[in-house]
Amino acid sequence: MNNGRDMTRPDWEKRIRRARELAAQYPAAAEVLGFYGEIAAFQREIFVAAAAENLHADPMRPLGEQLVRPAALGRFPALVELVEKKGPAGLAQAARELRQETPDEWRALLIKNSQPNGSDLTHRFFARACLQPMAEYLAFDSKVQFSGYSGPLCPVCGDKPQLSVLRPEGDGGKRSLVCSCCATEWDFRRILCPNCAEEDHGKLPRFSAEDFPHVRVEACETCKRYLKSVDLTTNGLAVPVVDEIAAAPLDLWAAEHGYQKIELNLMGL
Ligand SMILES: [Zn+2]
Ligand SMILES: [Zn+2]
Repeated sequence: MNNGRDMTRPDWEKRIRRARELAAQYPAAAEVLGFYGEIAAFQREIFVAAAAENLHADPMRPLGEQLVRPAALGRFPALVELVEKKGPAGLAQAARELRQETPDEWRALLIKNSQPNGSDLTHRFFARACLQPMAEYLAFDSKVQFSGYSGPLCPVCGDKPQLSVLRPEGDGGKRSLVCSCCATEWDFRRILCPNCAEEDHGKLPRFSAEDFPHVRVEACETCKRYLKSVDLTTNGLAVPVVDEIAAAPLDLWAAEHGYQKIELNLMGL
C-alpha cells in the first residue's frame, strides 16, 4: 500500500496559479515566479504528452536512466526558445548557444544532467526543466510501493529531497520530504537531518522570517546543510514546490549564515 499522498496526480494548473498569486503577494520574487510559471506551463506539456503516449517506467532500471524520451527530447527546442525569450540574462545566453547545437548534443546534455550531481548549474536547469515532468509522470505511473519507508533519499528515483512539508495530523504536523527530481513525497521523522542523520534536537535549529510565516529553514549544525519546509498546517493554500521558490530570501539568509542547501531548486535557488 502506498501512503496515499504519493498517489496524487501532479497538478500543474495549481502550481501555475499559485506562482501568479505569490508573485502579486511578494514583488521581490515576482520575476523568478513569473519565469517559473512559464517553465511550469512548458513542463505541463511534457507531462500531458507522456500520459497521452501511455509511457511506462521499467521497474528493473533506475528511474533516472529512463527520462530522456522523445516526449521530452522533442520539446527541447521549445524550451530553448522560451528561455531565450523569457529567461534571466545568463540562462538566455546559454539558450542562444544551445540553439546552435544538434539534437544529438541536446540528448547528451539531458543524459549527462539527468544523473545526480551532473555538470554545471546552467545546463542542469535545462535538463531539469525538461526531465522533471517525465520523472513525475513515470513516478506517478509506476506506483512504486514504499509504505513504511522513511529514508533520506527518494524511494522511487533515489534522488535528494528538495524540501520538506508539514501536513496536518492530529493536533500537530507530520513531516515529509519531496523529491527534487520526481516530486514523490515520503514520510520523514521531524527531528532528523536528511543529510547526515543528526538527531540531536539542539543541533537542528529552525529559522523563519516574518514575511514567510509558513516557510522555515530547517538547518543542521553538524553538517551545515539545510532545506526549507512549507507548513501546510498554518497555510493550507500553499503549494510546496512553488512556495519554496517564493521564499528565496530565506535561501540568501541561509547562505549568509554558512548553510549550504541540500539540493538547489529548479530555479537554481
Ligand atoms: Zn524521486
Ligand atoms: Zn546534518
